[in-house]
Amino acid sequence: MYIPLLIEDFLEKVERIKDSFELIEFFEENFEKIDDPLKNIPEVSKRLQEFYDYIVKMKHLNRERIEKRMKFIPGMVKRFRDMYLVYKAEKQGNLKELDLSVKYLKGVGPKRAEKLMKLGVKTVEDLLNYFPRDYEDRRKVMPLPILKEDEKVVTSGVLSAVEKIKKSGLSIVSAVLSDGMYQILLKWFNQDYIGNVLKTLMRKKVYVFGLVKKGFYGTLEIHNPEIEVIGNSSREIMPVYSLTEGIKQNVIRRIIKENLYNIYNFKDYLPDELKGKRRLLDVYQAYTGMHFPLSMYHQKMSRFRLAYEEILYLQLAFFLSKKENENIGGISKNFEGKLSSELLKQLPFKLTNAQLNAYEEIKKDLKSDKPMNRLLQGDVGSGKTIVSELAILDNYEAGFQSAVMVPTSILAIQNFKKMFEHLSRFGIRVALLLGATSTTEKNRIKQMLKNGDLDVVVGTHALIQEDVHFKNLGLVVIDEQHRFGVRQRKELIAKGKLVDTLVMTATPIPRTLSLSVYGDLDVSIIDEMPKGRKPIKTFVVHQTKIDEVYKFIISEVENGGQAYIVYPLIDDSEKLSVKSAVSMHEKLREEYFKDISTALIHGRMSDFEKDEIMYKFSRGEIKILISTSVIEVGIDVPQATVIVIENAERFGLAQLHQLRGRVGRGNKQSYCYLTVGNVSRETLERLNFFASTNDGFKISEYDLKLRGPGEFLGVKQHGLPEFKVADIINDIDIILMAREDAKYIVNNIEKFKTLIEYVKDIYKERLEFLDVG
Ligand code: ADP
Ligand code: MG
Repeated sequence: MYIPLLIEDFLEKVERIKDSFELIEFFEENFEKIDDPLKNIPEVSKRLQEFYDYIVKMKHLNRERIEKRMKFIPGMVKRFRDMYLVYKAEKQGNLKELDLSVKYLKGVGPKRAEKLMKLGVKTVEDLLNYFPRDYEDRRKVMPLPILKEDEKVVTSGVLSAVEKIKKSGLSIVSAVLSDGMYQILLKWFNQDYIGNVLKTLMRKKVYVFGLVKKGFYGTLEIHNPEIEVIGNSSREIMPVYSLTEGIKQNVIRRIIKENLYNIYNFKDYLPDELKGKRRLLDVYQAYTGMHFPLSMYHQKMSRFRLAYEEILYLQLAFFLSKKENENIGGISKNFEGKLSSELLKQLPFKLTNAQLNAYEEIKKDLKSDKPMNRLLQGDVGSGKTIVSELAILDNYEAGFQSAVMVPTSILAIQNFKKMFEHLSRFGIRVALLLGATSTTEKNRIKQMLKNGDLDVVVGTHALIQEDVHFKNLGLVVIDEQHRFGVRQRKELIAKGKLVDTLVMTATPIPRTLSLSVYGDLDVSIIDEMPKGRKPIKTFVVHQTKIDEVYKFIISEVENGGQAYIVYPLIDDSEKLSVKSAVSMHEKLREEYFKDISTALIHGRMSDFEKDEIMYKFSRGEIKILISTSVIEVGIDVPQATVIVIENAERFGLAQLHQLRGRVGRGNKQSYCYLTVGNVSRETLERLNFFASTNDGFKISEYDLKLRGPGEFLGVKQHGLPEFKVADIINDIDIILMAREDAKYIVNNIEKFKTLIEYVKDIYKERLEFLDVG
């Protein structure tokens, strides 16, 4: 059976053959079989022939000269590939402004423009940047009998026998594709409209592009294929764009093809030096190669160029902002660490090595004359707070104020109390500032901060109000930093002149992501739990078994434990059949926990009420706390040993991990129960995975795979750009390459002036915020 042999496939094989005789044989056997539309370009076929001669003539050479020739082959293959990258869109007519609405373009008009808008395409520039989601390689139309399962293929044949059926909730349209001898079934799921499209294609010769799958009876089928009449189209690689209703594939292809020449509006900002070093295409080749590549190698190199460019600019923005910070300089803080060593002596436990290392790194930063920009990452319960307290003590000893910002008032109150207890013994004056703090009290605190009569302030967003001023703020600590926007962090930092910044998080981020998100933030990791902690045992239980879970709570309480029961909602909802904290509190108190002290806590209560309840819970006066996710982050009550999360399917994995981290903070065995109703298999799988591990890192990787980086991080919050081409998870090689080059550029500013100005311009707003992470 005949499969066209493309030049690029041919070269790929050539590249792998290391033995000269084998290579000669390969050329002799396969050269004639090369069947590639590129051969129509005279230059290509001429060079191909030369290549053939070069190889085959080796037969007549001696050993030494053969070896010499063999050494040149990789270079020749490379040059050959590059040769067919030269294709460019023709520059033609008058260029359209990049910000012109697409509705003025040839073949678009107001109606189509409206539909394109749904794809995010408003302007000429958007259109040029609307890249294909896939490619259909029509140079290589596969004959029916050689199709294999799970391969994405282009094949062709004549359509017949369209049929529509309903089967277990699915509506399936099917058609038969036949090449005269063989047949294959095409199937579309839940795409009823395709029926009508197919009717117009009956008995016509079509291209079919899709994924080959095994059908019910073991025969091969193609699922949800794209289909198009074979007109006078030539053998090309066709782009496959994401569509929206009312815009067909061939329409968007045509619109882009006809307007592609407008890429000549773009300026190529990448310096030749980098292009040479990294073998990057120019911007015109790259845009052409994304939309209408002449080979898949062309596409690959085009994608590489554009992804590299996006990543380079971001990394450059990071380095520029870091450099700017360093130029401003910081204060080299002077302290001996008397107070911090005193506190360490008085603690009932010893720091773990990981905590000690992190603290050492922070101390170095405080002493250095560059401003600290450090991220402290450590799983839930790993003991980040105490590390930040040590830094606060050192900062105080050096003569500066500290501000600690946390996302919720419950957490602020808790941390305030902890810090008050640990710090006031050294005469340090600590205050608490919340949104709900009375005006008189607020004013008093603000006055004292301004006069330098307070040394440490712990608070929520209230800290970043305009009228909060410090006498000499030297250290900013931001806990649970993922809960803050970039801007909020920056605002707090701006309240001092040359502050050191420590941001803390329990959300571990895979390295590739952290390079893109945190750029040049220095990272300290606490990868060790305090001694004696036992892994939390987690179970997924069906709601019908809930009585047993409640009984278990009672037995734990009888043994001196305490419990959280968490609900997704405060009140019952008409729309969702989900349990809520208020009504379950009633029910539990009356039916199950009559003789046990329970309490309700949720976000609508006043800070005062919440504080009173948390206080009683922390002292063991309340045994069971019925709550919403207000207790999600930071809460630290080590006697609590059980947490039940009801309707667990309503929570994300990161959230569940934080919630579960409320227990297992002491030496006793702790338990986490996730209760669910009737949920989908995927949900159950996700929860079972969660139950199988306590490792926050594994959970976050799983979560990342499930949700993709945008949702995982909350892209906007991190000030991370939405890349058009680059993939911040899989492009790690490009990220490392671009970082190296960005560093080089920043160290040679004179040479790269234009580029730097350009990056500063596109990241204008972000640059101000980037360095904060
Ligand atoms: P997180 O990292 O989640 O913010 P915390 O700082 O709240 O964790 O610490 C969790 C608990 O562990 C607290 O009760 C804290 O006092 C305790 N802790 C911290 N470090 C240690 C240690 N080295 N050994 C034992 N307990 C510790
Ligand atoms: Mg914490």
